[in-house]
Formats: sequence, C-alpha cells, structure tokens
Amino acid sequence: MRASKMLISTLREVPAEAEIESHKLMLRAGMMRKMAAGIYNYMPLGLKVLKKIEDIVREEMDNAGAQEFLASALLPSELWKESGRWDAYGAEMFRLTDRNSREFCLGPTHEEVFTDIARNEIKSYKQLPLNLYQIQTKYRDERRPRFGVMRSREFIMKDAYSFDKDQEGLDVSYNKMYEAYVKIFNRCGLDAKCVAADSGAIGGSGSAEFMVKSEVGEDDVVFCTSCDYAANIEKAPATSEMAEKEELKELNKIETPHTKTIEDLAKLFNCSEKKIAKTLIYRADDKVVAVMVRGDREVNEVKVSNALGGVIELDMASESMVKNATNAEVGFAGPIGIKVDRLLVDTEVANMFNFIVGANETGFHIENVNYGRDFEGEVSDFRNITEGEKCPVCGKEITIARGTEVGHIFKLGTKYSDAMNATFIDENGKTKPFIMGCYGIGVTRTMASIIEQHNDENGIIWPLSVAPYHVSIIIANMKDETQITLAEKMHEELENMGIEVFLDDRNERAGVKFKDSELMGIPMRITVGKKVSEGIVEFKLRNGGENENISIEDVYNKIKDEFKKASIELKR
Ligand code: ATP
Ligand code: MG
Repeated sequence: MRASKMLISTLREVPAEAEIESHKLMLRAGMMRKMAAGIYNYMPLGLKVLKKIEDIVREEMDNAGAQEFLASALLPSELWKESGRWDAYGAEMFRLTDRNSREFCLGPTHEEVFTDIARNEIKSYKQLPLNLYQIQTKYRDERRPRFGVMRSREFIMKDAYSFDKDQEGLDVSYNKMYEAYVKIFNRCGLDAKCVAADSGAIGGSGSAEFMVKSEVGEDDVVFCTSCDYAANIEKAPATSEMAEKEELKELNKIETPHTKTIEDLAKLFNCSEKKIAKTLIYRADDKVVAVMVRGDREVNEVKVSNALGGVIELDMASESMVKNATNAEVGFAGPIGIKVDRLLVDTEVANMFNFIVGANETGFHIENVNYGRDFEGEVSDFRNITEGEKCPVCGKEITIARGTEVGHIFKLGTKYSDAMNATFIDENGKTKPFIMGCYGIGVTRTMASIIEQHNDENGIIWPLSVAPYHVSIIIANMKDETQITLAEKMHEELENMGIEVFLDDRNERAGVKFKDSELMGIPMRITVGKKVSEGIVEFKLRNGGENENISIEDVYNKIKDEFKKASIELKR
C-alpha cells in the first residue's frame, strides 16, 4: 500500500483526553477517533488491526467446531421480557421505541437471541451439541466509559453460545472454548491469564475470566504465591480471622462527635481498626440493606448481591436513606436498632468480642458490642480477601494484582432455556431444556490490551500476527529515482509473497517517515537510501535490534525468518 494514497492521521502531540498508553497511542497512531463519550470511529489503520484480531478469533472458533452466525444489534423487548432481563439489565441498556411505540434495545449481549434461535431451530438431541458464535457490535451505556476502547459504549465482541443435551456435554463445550481462548490470546501476542470468576446468584456452575495484568485494570485478581490458584477478587473466598477470646463486657454508649472515619474512631478509642465493625448501608433495588465488616476490611459487593439473590442495582444508600435507617447523620450507623430490610454480617464480625459500632444516634458510638447477645443478622463471607491472607486452596499467602478482563467463559446451565422454554426431545422422547454456555471476547478491548503490553516511548510495537502492515519501506529521498524504483520493486515482490507492505512514498523527510513507522508499530522497517546503488538497504526490527546495512537478498530472508519465528505461514 502506498502511503501517498492513504489517509494517515498520526499525531505528534499526546491528546489531553487520553489517560492510558493504549488510548494515547491509538489516537496518536491514527487508529481511531472519538465521536462522543465512549464512541469511536476506526480509521483505516485501526480497522486493519481489528480485522486481523477478528480473523484469529474466527479461525480458532471454527477450529473448535463453532459456527459463525450474525444476529441483529436491534432487539425487540419481548425476548428480554421473557428472560426477565428487560427490567434486570438496568441503566446500562440503550433502549428505544419505533414509530409504533414498540420497544427495542441495542443488544448489550445476546443470550436471549441465541436461546430463541435454538428453541426455534433445534428439535432433537441428534442436532446437539451446537455452538454458534458471532463477531458483532454491542452497546452498553456504561456508567463510566473510559480509557478509549477499553471501556466504551459501542464495542465489538465475539460472543458464542453452546447448546448441549446434558452437563457432561456442556463440560466438553466449555473446555473447547477454554482451549480456543488460550490459542487466540497467544496468537494475538497477549499474555492473558485464566482466573476463576463469579457466576452470580442464579448463574450456572462455572465461570472463568481471561485477565491481562494492568495497573489501570478495573478488576482485582487474587493469585496464590505458591499454587496455581487465581481468581477474581469478587469470587475469592476470605477465611475469617478469629479474634482473641474475651469476657463479654457491658454495652457502653460513648460520645464521639467529630469522628466520621474508622481512622478517627480508632484514634479516639486508642484501639486498632480491628476492634471496630463498620456498618455500610446500601440500596439494593427497592430494599435497604446494611452490611457489616471489620473496620479495616472492604465490603465485597458481588458477595452481597449474590446473598441478596438477583439484585439488579446495588448502590451506596443516599444520605436521606441512611438518616431514615439510623435516625442519625451519616457516620453513626450500627446494627443495634437499625431499620433495614436485611442486615448482613461478615463472619469475621460475628467472631469478634467487645467491639465498637455506631449508635444510630448522631455523635455517638457503642463499645463492648457482641454478635448474638446484642444483635443478629445473616452471617457469611461479605468482604474482600486482602494481600497476604490465606489461599483458599493451599493455605499459603495470596497476592493481589489489577487486571482487565478480555474474555469470559461461562456455564449458564438452564438459566435462559428454563426462562424462555427452550427445549429439545431427548433419546427417550422426553422434553428437556438446553444446557447452555456462553463465551465472550472483547475484540476491541483485546486490541487496546495488546498495545498496553507492547509499546515503548516511540509508539506501538505490534506482534507480527496483528500488525496493520508487516513491513514498512521508507524511501529516504523522494528525488532519487533509483531509490523509488527499487522500493517499488521490493514493494511488489513482497506483496506477491503475501506480505503486507507500507510503502512510504510521501514527500516527507526521512525522519518523519521513521517516526510514523515506529508510532504505527510496523514490525519490520526497510530503508531505501543512498547505498541502494551498491545493492544495500537498511533493515530494522521494531522490537529492538540494530539498524543493519544488508543486501536486498538478505532482506527477504530476514523477513521470512520473522514469519517463521511467529509461526505465520507465507503464501510462498
Ligand atoms: P466488565 O467487568 O469489564 O464490565 P463484563 O463482565 O461486563 O466486563 P461481559 O459481559 O462478560 O463483560 O462481556 C464479554 C467481554 O466483552 C468482556 O470480557 C470484555 O472483554 C468485553 N467488554 C465488556 N464491556 C466492554 C466495554 N464497555 N468496552 C469494551 N469491551 C467490553
Ligand atoms: Mg460490564
């Protein structure tokens, strides 16, 4: 491809709106442009990469026996009402009505659609197992769209749905997807780790996420320092620390006027935060729920949601809700006499002695509180595990790192087939619900994640497998006919070999061309300069290495070697 004929939109400046490396580089390299919050247009260069990732995904899904499908993005509300998610999806769903006031949404995901297809098209166990996938645009009105295409409101997802006649079949389908995902991320040059994930209150029997480690990731991932255990913090069980046994003391209300934080309280009482139990108040749909955890712990909202069973929106309660529940200003909530629909107590709190809680009275706390004697609630694990605690599998220390989810595999079981009455006839002539799995990959998020893992101060360093062009040929001096002639010849020959070439024939200084080639992350660079008359050009790998003077023949061999190393086959 000739650069002179292309729309090249590289920027020298770092765009102010971009906070993370991949976002900055996608804008600077001219891969995409923002249209509105969380909505982007892909420029030709970005689209090339996107298509390559899609092709890898497609090949591996096909290899795993899945069939490609394409559903509409515009979905009628009826299907969603059948599954109960028309209401359950909440504010993240983009909703619209047609000219006849019929309700629709822009699909945020497609379980309902594929369940509907299955119930209409699959009659018998003989047609099972079946796995259908699509690579399609999804819409989610995210609360906080950010980091470019990492969390956008329109994004491309590969979503697959498997249908089996029994649990064993689902296990096989799920494992095939797991293996396909490992291959996909490997081929994309992405270091993604599979970790156990939460399956939700009514979710199926298994779920795993593919996570990439990233400081800007929005998930916390728990890793064991000794065994293979890895899980999303949402899922990782916390074992409660047993407080030292004490004689139960008498309740004592104490004035604590200016203490609003746990830190203030610990100072005032001259005690450790472990002696305090905090009571947080949430709005869970139309209910008010209080959750108690030890002063130094964090509430795990997923564990709370699961305990509440299918909560749609869980938010911190408003000031007025807190006042209603406690008869006090915010900061003085406690379990004794609180007016809430449910009181959830973390196991650790139930095992503490003579602890401090809010008095439900502005300016007061109570000390020497004991679970069982002074209050009761629903006791379970409601907190996040913390760095250095015990691994739930082997008991050794765990560590926590930030991560971003690029893929998700999920055993749904009969959640949707039951709700939507999607059945088949089994070997014995009986009607059975499909046993389903669903499997997603964020294609656009994968693209950004690859950049996060492959960049330097000069720009992107694409792995060969997803690079927009494999090789750039830079004509150093556009006034030199010999240079132009040779560069064009190499361009043609390489393209005939199946190599994608970015021929920089723009009337620009060589320095500008070098910079653009590096910024765009093209893996190999050939510079056709003064020495061309001696049959010599320069060759440089984007991923480190020296700028070498080599003969034209050797260039071809070097390029072929790179393809071999990356296990990518060339046409010839
Ligand atoms: P997250 O926890 O990041 O919001 P999710 O659990 O909502 O993700 P899924 O519903 O499992 O995500 O969607 C499948 C995949 O789609 C995710 O693994 C992720 O790669 C991608 N994805 C989800 N939301 C977005 C988004 N807003 N922008 C880009 N990609 C997304
Ligand atoms: Mg989400």
